[in-house]
Amino acid sequence: MTTRIGIVGCAGRMGQMLMQEALDGEGVTLAGGSEWAGSKALGRDIGELLGRGPLGQPVGGEARALFAASDVIIDFTTPAATLEHAALAAEMGKPLVIGTTGLTPEQSARLDEAARRTAVVWAPNFSVGITLLMALTRRVAATLDESYDIEIVEMHHRHKVDAPSGTALGLGRAAAEGRQVALEEVWVKQRDGQTGPRQSGSIGFATLRGGDVVGDHSVLFAAEGERLELTHKASSRRVFAKGAIRAARWAAGRAAGLYDMTDVLGLSA
Ligand code: NAD
Repeated sequence: MTTRIGIVGCAGRMGQMLMQEALDGEGVTLAGGSEWAGSKALGRDIGELLGRGPLGQPVGGEARALFAASDVIIDFTTPAATLEHAALAAEMGKPLVIGTTGLTPEQSARLDEAARRTAVVWAPNFSVGITLLMALTRRVAATLDESYDIEIVEMHHRHKVDAPSGTALGLGRAAAEGRQVALEEVWVKQRDGQTGPRQSGSIGFATLRGGDVVGDHSVLFAAEGERLELTHKASSRRVFAKGAIRAARWAAGRAAGLYDMTDVLGLSA
């Protein structure tokens, strides 16, 4: 069965890549793409926007119409837009795949609400490699005691607006789950000046920004005498788009609930 995929925020960096994958991927078709009312891309031919010749399908301004024409919607936009789309998905009973990062805890709770009425797949990183890194981090953190200090280092391109990255926070959460603690109680998201010595059991984050780096993440377990480092480097945003399309195929016709990429890959416990 072919899954019809609608892309909201379709003129964005990820939106365009998602449309390319929906046009080229197996078992999927592009139902269409939409943008916000002020976008310069409104009304432009999607094929021309993607540099592949006219498709006769313009970028729409009506999310509701796009949802109606799609089996599954993919959303890589902004937190505020994602909340609007989640409410619409819940109302219309359409599965929603969300890649947007930078949501506050209150905004995340609103996704839980939507997931009571439709299938929502939300992952801070849709790459298969990162999903495995999350599972490994959880496992290693469960094995090593607090004499191993956990630090998470990430680097992204200069345009990224949130920090630490959603993926870094997801890795921190996986480590905290492994240690059976709440991330919010042990995280140290920045250090400056007289910080004092490192608190045992804390999970630290360091953020680097520059150039065109797609996304580097390392999880360090540092003890006296040895250090274990798990590293993932993404060299193309295409891996995120491919993972999100895979998630969309998986979500089609799925029962209501909040899922992540470990569910899609069958890695959840
Ligand atoms: P971008 O700024 O290039 O694209 C965002 C698009 O959303 C823009 O085209 C914008 O016009 C559109 N938009 C904003 N409000 C809208 C609305 N109300 N309705 C419809 N469209 C709207 O950003 P990007 O680099 O494509 O990243 C988007 C998000 O995806 C960010 O939060 C980023 O961190 C995240 N991201 C996640 C992953 C992952 O694997 N989960 C990977 C890459 C990026």
